[in-house]
Amino acid sequence: MPAVKVLPPGSTIGILGGGQLGRMTALAAAQLGYRSVVFAPEAESVAGLVSAGHVQGDYQDKAALARFAKQVDVITYEFENVPEAAVTECEKHKPVRPGVKPIHFAQHRLREKEFFRMAGIGTADYQPIASEADIARATALPGILKTCTEGYDGKGQFRVSTRAELAAAWEKVGRRECILEAVVDFICEISAIVARSLDGSTACFPIGLNEHRDGILRTTTVPSGLPAGTIAKAEHHGLQLAESLELTGLVALEMFVTRDGQVLANEMAPRPHNSGHWTIDACVTSQFEQLVRAICGLPLGSVEILAPSRMINLIGDEANDWQRFLSDPTARLHLYGKSKARPGRKMGHVTYIGNGK
Ligand code: AMP
Repeated sequence: MPAVKVLPPGSTIGILGGGQLGRMTALAAAQLGYRSVVFAPEAESVAGLVSAGHVQGDYQDKAALARFAKQVDVITYEFENVPEAAVTECEKHKPVRPGVKPIHFAQHRLREKEFFRMAGIGTADYQPIASEADIARATALPGILKTCTEGYDGKGQFRVSTRAELAAAWEKVGRRECILEAVVDFICEISAIVARSLDGSTACFPIGLNEHRDGILRTTTVPSGLPAGTIAKAEHHGLQLAESLELTGLVALEMFVTRDGQVLANEMAPRPHNSGHWTIDACVTSQFEQLVRAICGLPLGSVEILAPSRMINLIGDEANDWQRFLSDPTARLHLYGKSKARPGRKMGHVTYIGNGK
């Protein structure tokens, strides 16, 4: 085993991004005696509210990034669309874990799919769509046209059945670089969240069964209830991905399970993931603590399930029902401290323990 430089409790973790994933990472870091400093463009962020420090700055602002890096011992990011240049800039000052490689692939759907295939992980059929000629030879129909960049939670996506519909959808997205993916007739959607530590050791959290609504994750149920063979394939894909990325940190892999038992990769996120929020209350180690352990060179924690659980996202004004959730003894409520509830905005989540509501 290669010798690794452990960052002991008392060290400071820098977090690029100020959202709820950064917030829950900072809370887990604090539990282990670490300090966190958040870098975000906003004057106040929900991650910054629970951290020792908050640096406001633009991701293009090299001086601000250097000021941030100076205050910390290691840097991580809580969203995969952090500009590559900002991560490269941070790397000049302090280790960034995971570094540039995972976001290079995660930020671009075509590169991402090619990477999956290269790593031996199956995907739906896909084709690049960047010209009229690409449309003329498109065969992955019926399919979903997705922009290669800046699409998440179903944004920038169009279901198309014919080449004419494909052409119209491509016009609608401003003729941007896209990928056409064949529609997968899936029986369910699942995710694997894998941690890989500085010494190369890995741990895959139990596979979560995910339901989406309007392109946004609605619930995650664990255990998934899937056959052992399907679970083994999904875990194997997740571990393959972490190894291929030479990751130090956490990666989530969202997958489809098809009727004939195939497990196909949809997309990855090299950070804590919404489908892993159940781990805070129903797993020996939470995904956020696991991230802290991985990037600080600590041993990874156990991924054993403590109780069956079901996580439900609280979107928009659903979080206003906090009293109802608190009065249910099986419910563990998490609110992110966001001041404005916009439609589609993730405001919190609730994890039902035991009976899985
Ligand atoms: P994405 O932004 O790629 O995660 O897509 C959001 C949701 O759209 C997924 O969770 C699926 O429910 C659905 N979806 C995306 N791609 C496909 C596909 N190739 N076939 C079927 N459904 C898909």
